[in-house]
Amino acid sequence: MRSAADVVIIGGGCMGASTAYHLSRLGIRNVVLIERERQLATGSTGRNAGGVRHQFSIPENIAFSIESIHLMERFEDEVGYPLDFHQDGYLFLLSTPESVSTFEQNIALQQSLGVEVELLTPAEAARLAPGLNVDGVIAASYCSRDGIADPNGLTTGFARAAQTAGVEIERDTEVTGITVDADRIAGVTTTRGTIATPVVVNAAGPHAARVAQLAGVNLPVEPLRRHIFIAQPPAAAVAGADFPETHLMAIDFATSFYFHREGANILFGMGDPDEAPGFDMTVQWDFLDSVVEVALTRLPVLAEGTISHAWAGLYAMSPDANAIIGPVEQVKGLYLINGFSGHGFQHSPAVGRHLAALIAGHQPDVDLDSFALDRFSTGTVQPEANVI
Ligand SMILES: Cc1cc2nc3c(=O)[nH]c(=O)nc-3n(C[C@H](O)[C@H](O)[C@H](O)COP(=O)(O)OP(=O)(O)OC[C@H]3O[C@@H](n4cnc5c(N)ncnc54)[C@H](O)[C@@H]3O)c2cc1C
Repeated sequence: MRSAADVVIIGGGCMGASTAYHLSRLGIRNVVLIERERQLATGSTGRNAGGVRHQFSIPENIAFSIESIHLMERFEDEVGYPLDFHQDGYLFLLSTPESVSTFEQNIALQQSLGVEVELLTPAEAARLAPGLNVDGVIAASYCSRDGIADPNGLTTGFARAAQTAGVEIERDTEVTGITVDADRIAGVTTTRGTIATPVVVNAAGPHAARVAQLAGVNLPVEPLRRHIFIAQPPAAAVAGADFPETHLMAIDFATSFYFHREGANILFGMGDPDEAPGFDMTVQWDFLDSVVEVALTRLPVLAEGTISHAWAGLYAMSPDANAIIGPVEQVKGLYLINGFSGHGFQHSPAVGRHLAALIAGHQPDVDLDSFALDRFSTGTVQPEANVI
């Protein structure tokens, strides 16, 4: 392991890998990325649903989506590794007049930024996803260029390209200390030695508050468990007319139940309003009954299926469910890329580039003020409404 580096990145999920890649593209290659697990992308990144959408409520998040989706579309050409990316569309099913009115405003904003998004009737939504029951749905927000992508492929693609450019990736190595000297980052201590560095990037996902604490910084990011279930319908159902033909992602906005086709199976999940913050990732099988109750109303074919497996992962929640990106004023050289709630994977290509630009001393081309850590003390929060 190098004993000195220009930048040390803590965390080998999509955020750490994207930041490493974009630093290397800016010519900053004396970089060490440290991951405590044996493999990259085994944290939240390896446990997520892969959803990718332009449909956000604040301009900065829409800008992140536009850039990220553009990069995912040409990932192999630009990064050099293939990415499984299905742009089969993304549907928000809306069942209250209030949510329709909010989404109409969001759609106007998204369209003003060049996104091709539209409001569909329930019948039009049902036609897009065979088997979808739209009872009670008033309208649906839809973007055909949204879809699902492979989080593991994206992370390892960025990491390999960064490595080829000279970035060192240390796995099975935990950062246990951050040295701060006169309010400046001086180095990190790991389970395999120390590295002198003036810059540390906290890309530790749901563990970001613990990592920030190593430098004496309070970071308001909490882990929150979310479940994903995989159902295997009978082969006859898959071949029939009541099963989604494509990888379209559909979300029932009122309940947060979502699903998409995963091979011949269906991947689905839903938020548990009673979940308390914590690091436990044990699957709560008791919760499945509540999910299935909603699932059967929206995708009745699931009644004929069996649950083949399930897992839980952790959202990294900030107080306003929006990311925390940029430098920490009280500790020079400490940078954050944290608190992405349930939408970090899809924004990692753009956000990693913006953070790399900041570290390189460039002005990012999206205003990152909405994502500054000090917004929680100054009260200038601008929450994202489309959080699943
Ligand atoms: C169930 C679920 C579904 C989701 N669905 C979507 C979705 O559809 N679309 C979407 O965009 N997002 C989704 N997300 C959110 C998305 O997964 C996250 O926002 C994103 O993966 C965060 O990436 P990360 O790199 O910050 O964190 P992680 O992937 O968790 O990476 C952080 C890494 O840091 C390492 N680490 C921590 N502490 C240390 C240390 N001290 N030393 C060394 N290494 C350390 C960890 O081992 C980990 O590998 C979902 C999340 C979950 C849980």
